Amino acid sequence: MTLSRVSVLGATGSIGVSTLDVIARHADQYQIHALTGHSRMDVLAEQCLLHKPAFAVVANAGQAVALQARLHEQKLQTQVLHGAAALEQVAADAEVDVVMAAIVGAAGLRPTLAAVRAGKRVLLANKEALVMSGALFMQAVRDSGAQLLPIDSEHNAIFQCMPGNYADGLARVGVRRILLTASGGPFREFSVEQLASVTPSQACAHPNWSMGQKISVDSASMMNKGLELIEACWLFDARPDQVEVVIHPQSVVHSLVDYVDGSVLAQLGNPDMRTPIAHALAWPRRINSGVAALDLLAVGRLDFHAPDNLRFPCLQLARQAASAGGTACAILNAANEVAVAAFLAGRMSFTDIPVMIEHTLSTITSEQVQDLDHILLADQRARTQAEKWLARRS
Ligand code: NDP
Ligand code: MG
Repeated sequence: MTLSRVSVLGATGSIGVSTLDVIARHADQYQIHALTGHSRMDVLAEQCLLHKPAFAVVANAGQAVALQARLHEQKLQTQVLHGAAALEQVAADAEVDVVMAAIVGAAGLRPTLAAVRAGKRVLLANKEALVMSGALFMQAVRDSGAQLLPIDSEHNAIFQCMPGNYADGLARVGVRRILLTASGGPFREFSVEQLASVTPSQACAHPNWSMGQKISVDSASMMNKGLELIEACWLFDARPDQVEVVIHPQSVVHSLVDYVDGSVLAQLGNPDMRTPIAHALAWPRRINSGVAALDLLAVGRLDFHAPDNLRFPCLQLARQAASAGGTACAILNAANEVAVAAFLAGRMSFTDIPVMIEHTLSTITSEQVQDLDHILLADQRARTQAEKWLARRS
């Protein structure tokens, strides 16, 4: 068996840690080339000791000097780099076969694109990168021949339920609809009044999944499903009206594909990200992920409901941005990142999140995308506008 060399971008986060857990079970098949972290230096140091990467990447020079000294003390050969260019370097390095793109938010766009452009097998967790740059990102995949495999559990499920030739077009392969499941998050049953006073720690306590803070808030607001709708459109070349969202509180059915003959294929499993990670790492083979077998009798029942767009307006805002196209999705994503950070910092309420995003979307006009710099400019304008809205409010 040949050894695959893997760079894990965002190794210190929730997806990064799960990725290393799967890889540690298959040391005969995968070797870590690079690990990256941003603030959790203790976690990164431990990971380096265990996986002995050629490179570690951190945010700044101070962190790099400290980590390098710590690793030298332990007689480790790992070279510590820092900064945005180093992230791109370890993503595109000729030595690397597989890149796990698990940095959160817009910060992951450039390194993820660097991996795509270098023609790697790219395991895409960083959905914000694809949401921001959809057409450009997918064109880069086609140009370089990169293998793009979705890590988001829903998209990984859809990928598993699609025929091998789905890139020919959904109509040609007989797909009628994609059914994207959503747990509904911790506030699924809350009234608008209750939503107005929820706290960041309540929002980060997801009932089924253990995740980073940003995606936890996105799940609570349903913006995560909005971003996933956009992600599904790009990954599977679907129109927004071909993607339907269904609330499924148990998070056992990870998503479904509805065919014109009435067949509906679903992928089921325990809610544990190691399943999609193992699937994408080994595809088309299967490897053990460490996830327990699904006990259907313990699950007992599977419920499905329609989403409530009045209590959770973010999904509709994302649908509108998806239909508008151009830079609208980058504007939506940037406004959401500012909104989530402001909510987590106690600067605004949970119900302000969609208000800030709607204001930003209606103030900044969507434009035809020219290039990556144009997308990053739209991102910057949206952040400035969202911050202005916040400053006026307080
Ligand atoms: P976490 O917040 O747990 O981890 C984020 C990672 O990105 C950490 O390694 C963090 O470093 C690093 N990071 C943060 N900011 C920067 C920056 N400016 N530059 C470079 N690195 C940075 O998030 P998750 O693991 O939960 O999510 C990662 C991505 O995967 C997100 O896009 C999310 O939407 C997606 N995803 C996550 C799922 C999950 O179950 N967690 C499910 C599906 C998708 P440090 O921790 O050292 O600060
Ligand atoms: Mg998901």
